[in-house]
Amino acid sequence: MSYPLGMVNRVTHLRYNYRIYPDVDQRTMLARTFGSARVVYNDALRIFQNAWKAGLDRPGFAAVARAVITEAKQTLDRVWLAEVSVVPLQQSLRHLQVAYNAFFASLRGDRKGPKVGPPRFKRRSARQSAEFTRRGFVLRETGKLYLAKIGEVKVAWSRDLPSEPSSVTVIKDGTGKYFVSFVVAVDGAPLPDLGEDAVVGIDLGLSAFAVTSSGKRIESPKFLRRAERKLKKYQRAVSRKQKGSQNGRKARLKLAKVHARVASQRRDFIEQETTRLVRESQVLAVETLNVHGMAAKGMRLGKSVHDQALGMFLRVLTAKAARAGRTLIAVDRFYASTQICSACEAKTGPKGKEELHVREWQCTDCGAVHDRDVNAAINILREGLRQIAEHEQLAAGHRKDQSNLGAESLNACGGDTKTSDTLAAPETPNTGTEPGTSGNAKPERDKSLPPSL
Ligand SMILES: [Zn+2]
Repeated sequence: MSYPLGMVNRVTHLRYNYRIYPDVDQRTMLARTFGSARVVYNDALRIFQNAWKAGLDRPGFAAVARAVITEAKQTLDRVWLAEVSVVPLQQSLRHLQVAYNAFFASLRGDRKGPKVGPPRFKRRSARQSAEFTRRGFVLRETGKLYLAKIGEVKVAWSRDLPSEPSSVTVIKDGTGKYFVSFVVAVDGAPLPDLGEDAVVGIDLGLSAFAVTSSGKRIESPKFLRRAERKLKKYQRAVSRKQKGSQNGRKARLKLAKVHARVASQRRDFIEQETTRLVRESQVLAVETLNVHGMAAKGMRLGKSVHDQALGMFLRVLTAKAARAGRTLIAVDRFYASTQICSACEAKTGPKGKEELHVREWQCTDCGAVHDRDVNAAINILREGLRQIAEHEQLAAGHRKDQSNLGAESLNACGGDTKTSDTLAAPETPNTGTEPGTSGNAKPERDKSLPPSL
Protein backbone atom coordinates (compact mmCIF):
# COMPACT_ATOMS: atom_id res chain seq x y z
CA MET A 1 0.00 0.00 0.00
CA SER A 2 1.30 3.41 -0.77
CA TYR A 3 0.47 6.31 1.44
CA PRO A 4 -1.15 9.34 -0.08
CA LEU A 5 0.82 12.20 1.38
CA GLY A 6 1.40 15.15 -0.84
CA MET A 7 0.36 18.60 0.15
CA VAL A 8 -2.08 18.93 2.94
CA ASN A 9 -4.75 21.45 3.75
CA ARG A 10 -4.64 23.84 6.61
CA VAL A 11 -7.61 22.31 8.40
CA THR A 12 -6.97 18.88 9.74
CA HIS A 13 -9.09 16.50 11.70
CA LEU A 14 -7.27 14.98 14.59
CA ARG A 15 -8.32 12.34 17.02
CA TYR A 16 -8.07 12.77 20.74
CA ASN A 17 -8.41 9.59 22.74
CA TYR A 18 -9.22 9.08 26.39
CA ARG A 19 -9.95 6.20 28.65
CA ILE A 20 -13.48 6.14 30.04
CA TYR A 21 -14.94 4.29 33.01
CA PRO A 22 -18.58 3.39 32.40
CA ASP A 23 -20.44 1.86 35.36
CA VAL A 24 -22.17 -1.51 35.19
CA ASP A 25 -25.46 -0.20 33.78
CA GLN A 26 -23.65 1.94 31.25
CA ARG A 27 -21.57 -1.04 30.15
CA THR A 28 -24.76 -2.99 29.56
CA MET A 29 -26.21 -0.18 27.48
CA LEU A 30 -22.98 0.18 25.55
CA ALA A 31 -23.00 -3.53 24.76
CA ARG A 32 -26.55 -3.15 23.42
CA THR A 33 -25.54 -0.12 21.40
CA PHE A 34 -22.54 -1.88 19.85
CA GLY A 35 -24.70 -4.89 19.02
CA SER A 36 -27.53 -2.81 17.57
CA ALA A 37 -25.18 -0.77 15.40
CA ARG A 38 -23.73 -4.00 14.04
CA VAL A 39 -27.16 -5.54 13.36
CA VAL A 40 -28.39 -2.43 11.56
CA TYR A 41 -25.25 -2.42 9.43
CA ASN A 42 -25.68 -6.06 8.53
CA ASP A 43 -29.42 -5.72 7.83
CA ALA A 44 -28.72 -2.86 5.45
CA LEU A 45 -25.91 -4.74 3.76
CA ARG A 46 -28.23 -7.69 3.25
CA ILE A 47 -30.80 -5.45 1.53
CA PHE A 48 -28.15 -4.13 -0.85
CA GLN A 49 -26.82 -7.60 -1.58
CA ASN A 50 -30.27 -9.03 -2.22
CA ALA A 51 -31.16 -6.18 -4.56
CA TRP A 52 -27.94 -6.77 -6.44
CA LYS A 53 -28.53 -10.53 -6.69
CA ALA A 54 -32.08 -9.90 -7.96
CA GLY A 55 -30.71 -7.57 -10.62
CA LEU A 56 -32.54 -4.57 -9.16
CA ASP A 57 -31.29 -1.00 -8.92
CA ARG A 58 -29.29 -0.14 -5.85
CA PRO A 59 -31.79 1.12 -3.23
CA GLY A 60 -31.31 4.60 -1.84
CA PHE A 61 -29.70 4.94 1.56
CA ALA A 62 -32.61 6.90 3.03
CA ALA A 63 -35.07 4.16 2.17
CA VAL A 64 -32.75 1.50 3.53
CA ALA A 65 -32.23 3.48 6.73
CA ARG A 66 -35.99 3.68 7.17
CA ALA A 67 -36.32 -0.05 6.66
CA VAL A 68 -33.56 -1.17 9.01
CA ILE A 69 -34.08 1.41 11.76
CA THR A 70 -37.49 3.11 11.83
CA GLU A 71 -39.58 0.26 10.46
CA ALA A 72 -37.50 -2.49 12.03
CA LYS A 73 -38.22 -1.08 15.49
CA GLN A 74 -41.90 -1.86 14.95
CA THR A 75 -41.19 -5.55 14.42
CA LEU A 76 -40.92 -8.18 17.11
CA ASP A 77 -37.52 -9.23 15.81
CA ARG A 78 -35.91 -5.85 16.19
CA VAL A 79 -38.01 -4.14 18.84
CA TRP A 80 -34.91 -3.74 21.03
CA LEU A 81 -33.46 -1.25 18.56
CA ALA A 82 -35.71 1.33 20.22
CA GLU A 83 -33.81 0.97 23.49
CA VAL A 84 -30.60 2.49 22.18
CA SER A 85 -29.84 5.91 20.75
CA VAL A 86 -30.64 6.23 17.07
CA VAL A 87 -27.49 8.30 16.45
CA PRO A 88 -24.93 5.44 16.45
CA LEU A 89 -27.32 3.39 14.31
CA GLN A 90 -27.41 6.13 11.69
CA GLN A 91 -23.64 6.49 11.92
CA SER A 92 -23.27 2.77 11.39
CA LEU A 93 -25.20 3.13 8.12
CA ARG A 94 -23.04 6.06 7.16
CA HIS A 95 -20.00 3.82 7.58
CA LEU A 96 -21.62 1.32 5.24
CA GLN A 97 -22.21 4.09 2.74
CA VAL A 98 -18.56 5.13 2.97
CA ALA A 99 -17.48 1.51 2.47
CA TYR A 100 -19.69 1.23 -0.62
CA ASN A 101 -18.43 4.52 -2.03
CA ALA A 102 -14.84 3.38 -1.60
CA PHE A 103 -15.65 0.08 -3.28
CA PHE A 104 -17.31 1.71 -6.29
CA ALA A 105 -14.58 4.33 -6.60
CA SER A 106 -12.06 1.50 -6.57
CA LEU A 107 -13.98 -0.36 -9.29
CA ARG A 108 -14.02 2.78 -11.43
CA GLY A 109 -10.32 3.24 -10.82
CA ASP A 110 -10.92 6.61 -9.16
CA ARG A 111 -9.26 5.57 -5.99
CA LYS A 112 -5.55 5.44 -5.31
CA GLY A 113 -3.95 2.60 -3.44
CA PRO A 114 -4.88 -1.04 -3.22
CA LYS A 115 -8.19 -2.40 -4.52
CA VAL A 116 -11.06 -2.12 -2.08
CA GLY A 117 -13.47 -5.04 -1.87
CA PRO A 118 -17.21 -4.75 -1.29
CA PRO A 119 -18.38 -4.20 2.30
CA ARG A 120 -18.59 -7.33 4.38
CA PHE A 121 -20.83 -8.40 7.22
CA LYS A 122 -19.66 -7.30 10.63
CA ARG A 123 -19.14 -10.05 13.11
CA ARG A 124 -19.08 -9.84 16.82
CA SER A 125 -15.50 -9.32 17.90
CA ALA A 126 -13.43 -8.39 20.88
CA ARG A 127 -13.14 -4.80 19.70
CA GLN A 128 -16.44 -3.01 19.37
CA SER A 129 -17.36 0.56 18.68
CA ALA A 130 -20.19 3.02 18.20
CA GLU A 131 -20.04 6.57 16.91
CA PHE A 132 -22.04 9.52 18.22
CA THR A 133 -22.33 12.79 16.34
CA ARG A 134 -23.08 16.15 17.98
CA ARG A 135 -26.72 15.17 18.36
CA GLY A 136 -25.76 12.23 20.51
CA PHE A 137 -23.33 13.57 23.10
CA VAL A 138 -22.71 16.52 25.39
CA LEU A 139 -19.58 17.48 27.31
CA ARG A 140 -20.71 18.45 30.79
CA GLU A 141 -19.16 21.21 32.86
CA THR A 142 -18.38 18.56 35.44
CA GLY A 143 -15.99 16.87 33.02
CA LYS A 144 -18.37 14.00 32.37
CA LEU A 145 -19.38 12.91 28.92
CA TYR A 146 -23.12 12.53 28.37
CA LEU A 147 -24.00 9.92 25.76
CA ALA A 148 -27.59 9.60 24.55
CA LYS A 149 -29.49 6.82 26.35
CA ILE A 150 -26.33 5.79 28.18
CA GLY A 151 -25.86 8.65 30.60
CA GLU A 152 -22.94 10.58 32.06
CA VAL A 153 -19.71 8.66 31.75
CA LYS A 154 -16.52 9.31 33.67
CA VAL A 155 -13.60 10.34 31.42
CA ALA A 156 -9.88 10.35 32.27
CA TRP A 157 -8.88 13.64 30.64
CA SER A 158 -5.19 13.01 30.00
CA ARG A 159 -4.93 16.22 27.96
CA ASP A 160 -7.23 19.07 26.94
CA LEU A 161 -9.36 19.03 23.84
CA PRO A 162 -8.22 21.92 21.62
CA SER A 163 -11.78 22.75 20.52
CA GLU A 164 -15.31 21.40 20.28
CA PRO A 165 -15.27 17.85 18.90
CA SER A 166 -17.55 17.02 15.97
CA SER A 167 -18.03 13.38 16.87
CA VAL A 168 -17.02 10.77 19.37
CA THR A 169 -16.49 7.04 18.92
CA VAL A 170 -16.85 4.83 21.95
CA ILE A 171 -14.58 1.81 21.81
CA LYS A 172 -14.33 -1.33 23.86
CA ASP A 173 -11.02 -2.97 23.17
CA GLY A 174 -9.97 -6.59 23.28
CA THR A 175 -8.94 -6.38 26.93
CA GLY A 176 -12.30 -5.00 28.00
CA LYS A 177 -11.15 -1.41 28.45
CA TYR A 178 -13.27 1.45 27.21
CA PHE A 179 -12.07 4.49 25.30
CA VAL A 180 -13.53 7.47 23.55
CA SER A 181 -12.01 8.93 20.43
CA PHE A 182 -13.05 12.51 19.65
CA VAL A 183 -12.68 13.98 16.19
CA VAL A 184 -11.55 17.58 16.43
CA ALA A 185 -11.02 20.00 13.57
CA VAL A 186 -7.78 21.83 14.15
CA ASP A 187 -6.96 24.65 11.87
CA GLY A 188 -3.42 25.68 11.41
CA ALA A 189 -1.91 26.57 14.71
CA PRO A 190 1.29 27.05 12.72
CA LEU A 191 4.64 26.95 14.41
CA PRO A 192 6.99 29.85 13.67
CA ASP A 193 8.27 29.76 10.10
CA LEU A 194 11.83 28.41 10.06
CA GLY A 195 12.71 29.77 6.65
CA GLU A 196 13.55 27.99 3.45
CA ASP A 197 16.79 26.46 4.66
CA ALA A 198 15.12 24.33 7.31
CA VAL A 199 14.54 21.35 5.05
CA VAL A 200 14.93 17.66 5.71
CA GLY A 201 14.80 14.47 3.68
CA ILE A 202 13.75 11.29 5.45
CA ASP A 203 14.59 7.78 4.37
CA LEU A 204 12.45 5.15 6.05
CA GLY A 205 12.58 1.58 7.04
CA LEU A 206 15.85 -0.05 6.05
CA SER A 207 18.60 -0.62 8.56
CA ALA A 208 17.35 2.12 10.85
CA PHE A 209 13.76 3.18 11.47
CA ALA A 210 14.52 6.47 9.73
CA VAL A 211 17.60 8.35 8.59
CA THR A 212 17.59 12.06 7.78
CA SER A 213 19.52 13.97 5.15
CA SER A 214 21.46 15.67 7.93
CA GLY A 215 22.75 12.29 9.04
CA LYS A 216 20.59 11.68 12.09
CA ARG A 217 19.65 8.04 12.59
CA ILE A 218 16.47 7.12 14.40
CA GLU A 219 17.07 3.53 15.39
CA SER A 220 14.28 1.01 15.26
CA PRO A 221 13.24 0.53 18.87
CA LYS A 222 14.01 -2.89 20.30
CA PHE A 223 10.45 -3.43 21.47
CA LEU A 224 9.29 -3.66 17.87
CA ARG A 225 11.38 -6.77 17.24
CA ARG A 226 10.69 -8.22 20.65
CA ALA A 227 6.98 -7.63 20.17
CA GLU A 228 7.05 -9.65 16.99
CA ARG A 229 8.34 -12.74 18.80
CA LYS A 230 6.00 -12.33 21.73
CA LEU A 231 2.95 -11.86 19.55
CA LYS A 232 3.81 -14.99 17.59
CA LYS A 233 4.15 -16.95 20.80
CA TYR A 234 0.79 -15.82 22.20
CA GLN A 235 -0.88 -16.19 18.84
CA ARG A 236 0.24 -19.81 18.74
CA ALA A 237 -1.13 -20.32 22.23
CA VAL A 238 -4.48 -18.92 21.14
CA SER A 239 -4.71 -21.19 18.12
CA ARG A 240 -3.83 -24.26 20.18
CA LYS A 241 -6.68 -23.70 22.63
CA GLN A 242 -10.18 -24.85 21.97
CA LYS A 243 -12.54 -22.13 20.80
CA GLY A 244 -14.83 -20.88 23.53
CA SER A 245 -12.99 -22.76 26.27
CA GLN A 246 -11.88 -21.09 29.48
CA ASN A 247 -8.22 -21.47 28.52
CA GLY A 248 -8.90 -20.13 25.07
CA ARG A 249 -10.40 -17.00 26.59
CA LYS A 250 -7.40 -16.57 28.87
CA ALA A 251 -4.96 -16.97 25.99
CA ARG A 252 -6.86 -14.43 23.91
CA LEU A 253 -6.85 -11.95 26.76
CA LYS A 254 -3.08 -12.36 27.14
CA LEU A 255 -2.59 -11.78 23.43
CA ALA A 256 -4.78 -8.69 23.55
CA LYS A 257 -2.73 -7.33 26.44
CA VAL A 258 0.53 -7.73 24.52
CA HIS A 259 -1.06 -5.98 21.55
CA ALA A 260 -2.16 -3.15 23.80
CA ARG A 261 1.29 -2.71 25.32
CA VAL A 262 3.00 -2.72 21.92
CA ALA A 263 0.50 -0.19 20.60
CA SER A 264 1.13 2.18 23.46
CA GLN A 265 4.94 1.92 23.26
CA ARG A 266 4.78 2.50 19.56
CA ARG A 267 2.52 5.51 20.00
CA ASP A 268 4.97 7.12 22.43
CA PHE A 269 7.94 6.49 20.19
CA ILE A 270 6.24 7.88 17.09
CA GLU A 271 4.81 10.84 18.97
CA GLN A 272 8.28 11.84 20.13
CA GLU A 273 10.10 11.42 16.82
CA THR A 274 7.49 13.12 14.65
CA THR A 275 7.23 16.09 17.02
CA ARG A 276 10.97 16.63 16.79
CA LEU A 277 11.05 16.42 13.00
CA VAL A 278 8.17 18.87 12.57
CA ARG A 279 9.60 21.29 15.11
CA GLU A 280 12.98 21.39 13.40
CA SER A 281 12.00 21.57 9.72
CA GLN A 282 9.91 23.81 7.52
CA VAL A 283 9.89 21.40 4.57
CA LEU A 284 9.89 17.64 4.97
CA ALA A 285 10.41 15.23 2.09
CA VAL A 286 9.59 11.57 2.68
CA GLU A 287 9.62 8.60 0.39
CA THR A 288 6.29 6.81 0.14
CA LEU A 289 6.36 3.28 1.40
CA ASN A 290 5.37 0.08 -0.18
CA VAL A 291 5.00 -1.93 2.95
CA HIS A 292 3.11 -4.82 1.43
CA GLY A 293 5.52 -4.98 -1.47
CA MET A 294 8.43 -5.23 0.91
CA ALA A 295 6.87 -8.15 2.71
CA ALA A 296 5.71 -9.87 -0.46
CA LYS A 297 9.14 -9.88 -1.99
CA GLY A 298 10.36 -11.85 0.94
CA MET A 299 12.81 -9.14 1.88
CA ARG A 300 13.29 -9.79 5.52
CA LEU A 301 12.67 -6.15 6.28
CA GLY A 302 8.95 -6.73 6.06
CA LYS A 303 8.27 -7.51 9.70
CA SER A 304 4.67 -6.66 10.20
CA VAL A 305 4.86 -4.78 13.49
CA HIS A 306 7.68 -2.71 12.07
CA ASP A 307 5.71 -2.01 8.88
CA GLN A 308 2.74 -0.88 10.85
CA ALA A 309 4.91 1.46 12.82
CA LEU A 310 6.22 2.98 9.59
CA GLY A 311 2.71 3.49 8.25
CA MET A 312 1.65 5.13 11.47
CA PHE A 313 4.79 7.27 11.51
CA LEU A 314 3.83 8.69 8.11
CA ARG A 315 0.23 9.35 9.10
CA VAL A 316 1.21 11.12 12.32
CA LEU A 317 3.95 13.08 10.59
CA THR A 318 1.49 14.21 7.92
CA ALA A 319 -1.09 15.33 10.45
CA LYS A 320 1.47 17.19 12.55
CA ALA A 321 3.06 18.88 9.56
CA ALA A 322 -0.37 20.09 8.49
CA ARG A 323 -1.19 21.40 11.93
CA ALA A 324 2.12 23.23 12.21
CA GLY A 325 1.89 24.78 8.74
CA ARG A 326 4.83 22.77 7.41
CA THR A 327 5.16 21.52 3.86
CA LEU A 328 5.34 17.79 3.56
CA ILE A 329 6.08 16.27 0.20
CA ALA A 330 5.96 12.61 -0.75
CA VAL A 331 8.53 11.38 -3.21
CA ASP A 332 7.49 8.45 -5.34
CA ARG A 333 8.88 5.24 -3.98
CA PHE A 334 10.14 4.25 -7.42
CA TYR A 335 12.55 7.13 -7.38
CA ALA A 336 16.01 5.55 -7.24
CA SER A 337 17.08 7.30 -4.05
CA THR A 338 19.57 4.60 -3.09
CA GLN A 339 21.32 4.28 -6.42
CA ILE A 340 21.95 7.92 -7.18
CA CYS A 341 25.12 9.57 -5.91
CA SER A 342 23.98 12.65 -4.03
CA ALA A 343 27.21 14.46 -4.92
CA CYS A 344 27.28 14.08 -8.72
CA GLU A 345 23.89 12.45 -9.49
CA ALA A 346 25.47 9.51 -11.34
CA LYS A 347 23.72 6.18 -10.83
CA THR A 348 26.65 4.51 -9.16
CA GLY A 349 25.10 3.33 -5.88
CA PRO A 350 24.11 -0.16 -4.71
CA LYS A 351 21.36 -1.76 -6.77
CA GLY A 352 18.50 -4.10 -5.98
CA LYS A 353 18.08 -6.42 -3.09
CA GLU A 354 21.30 -8.32 -3.80
CA GLU A 355 23.12 -5.24 -2.58
CA LEU A 356 21.03 -4.57 0.49
CA HIS A 357 23.99 -5.41 2.69
CA VAL A 358 26.05 -2.52 1.26
CA ARG A 359 25.98 0.10 4.02
CA GLU A 360 28.70 2.38 2.70
CA TRP A 361 29.94 2.92 -0.82
CA GLN A 362 32.13 5.13 -2.94
CA CYS A 363 30.93 6.74 -6.14
CA THR A 364 33.03 5.50 -9.07
CA ASP A 365 32.38 8.74 -10.95
CA CYS A 366 33.23 11.44 -8.43
CA GLY A 367 34.86 9.52 -5.59
CA ALA A 368 32.42 10.69 -2.90
CA VAL A 369 31.98 8.23 -0.03
CA HIS A 370 28.38 7.71 1.13
CA ASP A 371 26.45 6.19 3.96
CA ARG A 372 23.74 4.36 2.08
CA ASP A 373 20.77 5.71 4.05
CA VAL A 374 21.98 9.28 4.45
CA ASN A 375 22.70 9.42 0.72
CA ALA A 376 19.15 8.18 0.04
CA ALA A 377 17.69 10.79 2.39
CA ILE A 378 19.63 13.57 0.64
CA ASN A 379 18.29 12.40 -2.71
CA ILE A 380 14.74 12.26 -1.38
CA LEU A 381 15.12 15.82 -0.14
CA ARG A 382 16.50 17.01 -3.47
CA GLU A 383 13.69 15.33 -5.39
CA GLY A 384 11.12 16.78 -2.98
CA LEU A 385 12.48 20.31 -3.41
CA ARG A 386 12.54 19.86 -7.17
CA GLN A 387 8.85 18.86 -7.13
CA ILE A 388 7.95 21.80 -4.93
CA ALA A 389 9.72 24.19 -7.30
CA GLU A 390 7.83 22.66 -10.20
CA HIS A 391 4.50 23.09 -8.39
CA GLU A 392 5.36 26.66 -7.58
CA GLN A 393 6.04 27.44 -11.20
CA LEU A 394 2.70 25.98 -12.17
CA ALA A 395 1.04 27.88 -9.36
CA ALA A 396 2.70 31.08 -10.51
CA GLY A 397 1.25 30.42 -13.96
CA HIS A 398 -2.23 30.09 -12.49
CA ARG A 399 -1.75 33.24 -10.49
CA LYS A 400 -1.63 35.27 -13.68
CA ASP A 401 -5.30 34.43 -14.25
CA GLN A 402 -6.58 34.15 -10.74
CA SER A 403 -4.96 36.43 -8.28
CA ASN A 404 -4.32 35.40 -4.72
CA LEU A 405 -3.75 31.68 -4.96
CA GLY A 406 -1.69 30.77 -1.96
CA ALA A 407 -0.10 27.55 -0.88
CA GLU A 408 -3.42 25.82 -1.50
CA SER A 409 -2.86 26.09 -5.21
CA LEU A 410 -0.20 23.44 -4.79
CA ASN A 411 -3.01 21.07 -4.07
CA ALA A 412 -4.58 21.75 -7.40
CA CYS A 413 -1.41 20.78 -9.17
CA GLY A 414 -1.46 17.11 -8.52
CA GLY A 415 -0.75 16.73 -4.82
CA ASP A 416 -3.07 14.47 -2.96
CA THR A 417 -5.25 16.75 -0.90
CA LYS A 418 -6.72 14.16 1.35
CA THR A 419 -6.65 15.20 4.94
CA SER A 420 -9.21 14.33 7.57
CA ASP A 421 -9.64 10.80 8.75
CA THR A 422 -7.46 8.65 6.56
CA LEU A 423 -4.38 10.69 7.15
CA ALA A 424 -5.01 12.22 10.47
CA ALA A 425 -6.17 9.45 12.68
CA PRO A 426 -2.84 8.94 14.29
CA GLU A 427 -3.81 7.99 17.76
CA THR A 428 -6.66 5.56 17.70
CA PRO A 429 -6.45 3.36 20.73
CA ASN A 430 -6.17 0.37 18.47
CA THR A 431 -5.16 -1.89 21.21
CA GLY A 432 -6.16 -5.47 21.30
CA THR A 433 -6.90 -6.52 17.79
CA GLU A 434 -4.78 -4.77 15.28
CA PRO A 435 -4.93 -5.96 11.74
CA GLY A 436 -2.12 -8.09 10.56
CA THR A 437 0.22 -7.84 13.51
CA SER A 438 0.98 -11.46 12.95
CA GLY A 439 0.16 -13.98 10.31
CA ASN A 440 -3.23 -15.04 11.53
CA ALA A 441 -4.11 -12.28 13.95
CA LYS A 442 -7.71 -11.18 13.85
CA PRO A 443 -8.43 -8.37 11.49
CA GLU A 444 -9.75 -5.34 13.30
CA ARG A 445 -13.06 -5.65 11.63
CA ASP A 446 -14.50 -8.67 13.11
CA LYS A 447 -14.42 -12.37 12.58
CA SER A 448 -15.76 -14.83 15.05
CA LEU A 449 -19.46 -15.19 15.64
CA PRO A 450 -22.49 -14.55 13.49
CA PRO A 451 -24.13 -11.21 14.08
CA SER A 452 -26.40 -11.50 17.05
CA LEU A 453 -26.86 -9.68 20.28
ZN1 LIG B 1 29.29 10.71 -7.57
